Amino acid sequence: MTRSRPGPDAPDSRFGPGRHALRGATLSFHADPFLSDPHASYTHLPDALVVIEDGRIAEAGPYDRLRASVEGSMPVAHYPDALILPGFVDTHIHYPQTQMIGAFGEQLLEWLNKYTFVTEQQFADPAHAAMVSELFLRELLRAGTTTAAVYCTVHPGSVDAFFQASQRFDTRMIAGKVLMDRNAPQALRDTVQSGYEDSRDLIAKWHGNGRQLYCITPRFAATSSQAQLESAARLWREHPGTYMQTHLSENLGEVGWIAELFPDCCDYFEVYRRAGLAGPRAIFAHAVHVSEDELCACHRAGAALSHCPTSNLFLGSGLFRVFDAKRADRPVRVGLGTDIGGGTAFSQLQTLNEAYKVAALNQTRLTAAHAFYLATRGGAHALYLDDRLGAIEPGYEADLVVLDLKSTPLMDFRMRYCADLMERLFVLMTLGDDRAVRATYVAGRPVYDRSRQPAPFRYADGSAAPAPAC
Ligand SMILES: [Zn+2]
Repeated sequence: MTRSRPGPDAPDSRFGPGRHALRGATLSFHADPFLSDPHASYTHLPDALVVIEDGRIAEAGPYDRLRASVEGSMPVAHYPDALILPGFVDTHIHYPQTQMIGAFGEQLLEWLNKYTFVTEQQFADPAHAAMVSELFLRELLRAGTTTAAVYCTVHPGSVDAFFQASQRFDTRMIAGKVLMDRNAPQALRDTVQSGYEDSRDLIAKWHGNGRQLYCITPRFAATSSQAQLESAARLWREHPGTYMQTHLSENLGEVGWIAELFPDCCDYFEVYRRAGLAGPRAIFAHAVHVSEDELCACHRAGAALSHCPTSNLFLGSGLFRVFDAKRADRPVRVGLGTDIGGGTAFSQLQTLNEAYKVAALNQTRLTAAHAFYLATRGGAHALYLDDRLGAIEPGYEADLVVLDLKSTPLMDFRMRYCADLMERLFVLMTLGDDRAVRATYVAGRPVYDRSRQPAPFRYADGSAAPAPAC
């Protein structure tokens, strides 16, 4: 079955929880190219079969080796001229900011006051939160992203709306209620007590509910008092397995403000470490202006940094040093983040395009191997999920993206002059965007299929997902 045409060939209910397979070229990383030979860090099979059962990868290998076991016994979706990868992982994104991408003219602190804090107040309305959640998840899936660490707003209802939408697609999402008890409009503030109790109740409701995971989310040290940071840390300790996400050293004005607010701390990371917010499953976004001491502390803590190049360029924040963060003698976990709405694209391909340029401005070279590792297994590693996500291996959750190597006339033309896989991948990340995503599989189901028009999205139960009424 060739899946290049719309209509009856598009995956249907046969590609549900039962045994089925994808056929096509695959790429999957088994090692970190920052810490080992990049050319030996991945497995590329030009014609592979990925057998899926109950939402997980049951078998993966060369088509010739596995064909006898599948022929005639299960439906096979064949994707010629495509590349199948693990679904992309986005380690930093704000769903409520979908409606304010591309806001003009400000740097971080002014941008928060002028745009973000105005927009986020609308999420007191559960209907608005539900509409934006649905639209946001579609944009992620259209971009091939299957897992993300997501900020909601201060309103508990914004978290319910988001996880409910995620459950309909059965996506593995990490999200939480923003904690903010100072330096924000009154309508967006909680208190130490209410922030703790609301987060605790949301953890009980959502953490480990299906594929959903909870993330304790103090926005950043300037909008949480010392007492709230410590309360967040207590909550995190009391609920092992939950995540913690916040912002770190994004912008020089912000770094100066934090130094004024916390004069006793030697640096910005120390503010979080001292409060008890540094450790495994902590995700710090940006880290553009961090020192060597802070990188060492991050490495010791086992915390992760989220590299958000489109946002850092758009807001004029600065250049993250990915090769410095990943230095082999004290490697820090690093994933990619789009940071919507400071970032300008949901697509990890566009994010990699900008990550390459940021690395170049730091006089380093982000190869396609480094780049696609960050977007897949590297992101899963940053989130301590690389035992189940980010690779095409038996036992892994079957979250996959099918990339079209000829998605635009220019890409089609340019690909004819590529000598090898690495060159094709580099062109893909330089010229590619959401148009390059042919299909996105979540837990083995094709929840997004570009050819399935006019309704390319389906929920996990197989029903067509109607477009949200905006
Ligand atoms: Zn952010």
